[in-house]
Amino acid sequence: MSAYRCPVCDYVYDEAKGAAREGFPAGTPWGQIPDEWCCPDCGVREKIDFEPV
Ligand SMILES: [Zn+2]
Repeated sequence: MSAYRCPVCDYVYDEAKGAAREGFPAGTPWGQIPDEWCCPDCGVREKIDFEPV
């Protein structure tokens, strides 16, 4: 399992945890997150901007 971090606000998407409030259950792979998904914390950055942790 991997994790990806927003370069602006340091929000981390952890595949093992998912993002329940975003509708992604625990274990959702990064590859299944839509490309147009925005960072839920800052709303500034999109998936493509996230960096592997
Ligand atoms: Zn962010």
